[in-house]
Amino acid sequence: MAGSMSEILSFIRDNDRFTILSHTSPDGDTLGSALALRLLLNALGKEAEVACSHPVPGAYDFLPGAAEVKDPDQAAGYPAAIAVDCADKCRFGRAAALFDKAKVTANVDHHGTNDMYADVNWMEETAACGELIYRIIGELGAELTADMATCLLTAIMTDTGCFAYSNVTEDTMVIAGALIAAGGDNAEINMKVYRTSPYCRSMLQAEAVSRTKLYCGGKLAITTVTMEDMARHGALSEHCDGIVEQLRDIDTVEIAVFLREDEGKIKGSLRAKRYADVSRVASKLGGGGHKRAAGYTCYCPIDEAAATAVRLGEEELDICLKA
Ligand code: 5GP
Ligand code: MN
Repeated sequence: MAGSMSEILSFIRDNDRFTILSHTSPDGDTLGSALALRLLLNALGKEAEVACSHPVPGAYDFLPGAAEVKDPDQAAGYPAAIAVDCADKCRFGRAAALFDKAKVTANVDHHGTNDMYADVNWMEETAACGELIYRIIGELGAELTADMATCLLTAIMTDTGCFAYSNVTEDTMVIAGALIAAGGDNAEINMKVYRTSPYCRSMLQAEAVSRTKLYCGGKLAITTVTMEDMARHGALSEHCDGIVEQLRDIDTVEIAVFLREDEGKIKGSLRAKRYADVSRVASKLGGGGHKRAAGYTCYCPIDEAAATAVRLGEEELDICLKA
């Protein structure tokens, strides 16, 4: 653990107007955590907004408050900024301006690579950032409402691969149970996030997966999606969510790499299955994350990015072999 929860609790008690920051290409954990925190702050009689550099993906439309998530240009930019699920300031994208203009800043996160960029920081390597928000709600003695439970159950479900990954602990399950008891609908959230796919997404994913290349005797899998691929399918970047997991699930694969082209940059997603540390790979490329799920952004042609990812993935597998 780094920093402390008590400093975050004081930060919440001592301020009245908050801008909550979610990371770019938002996922269930950053959105669920941010929206639950907003509900908590409102329940405490405080003003709060959630800002994010990218729009809320369609799969998360149902989250209470999703429609009020603001583009950074439209956000008020309150004096207290609090980032959730963001390992470093690069994760803010255009929302960085809101963080920089705030008088006081806080950082609640669960990535081991967090570089403690705020005035007040709390990093604990739980399965999901949503678990930390759950604990904050409890410590402040606020009522856990059904809407908060929906947000937090979504956060935890999405960061644990539906409670399937090695990051799930007894605490994760106890908290998930409490969230279901408070009104979170496990099956309904699962249906909306994982079992509802627009046609264009299914087709784009099938094509991307069908182009998978294997290296290192099948231990490393990689595929890419260009902007042209997305345009051809009429798909959005959010429709790429899930591709890297399909590569990881191939029986021989330990490291899966997915590269997506996006307006002059490449977004890399890395997954490991059992033993590799892909946060080490992502860190070498200026990104970060968790041992088994990490990411980065780079600025080069996609073929060059693919060659680099394969080389560094191979290096990681070598490190693991020698350990
Ligand atoms: P995803 O591949 O789903 O975008 O991200 C996987 C994990 O890596 C998430 O925990 C996410 O927060 C982290 N991650 C993704 N991209 C970046 C990045 O550019 N920098 C850092 N520090 N972490 C990232
Ligand atoms: Mn997370």
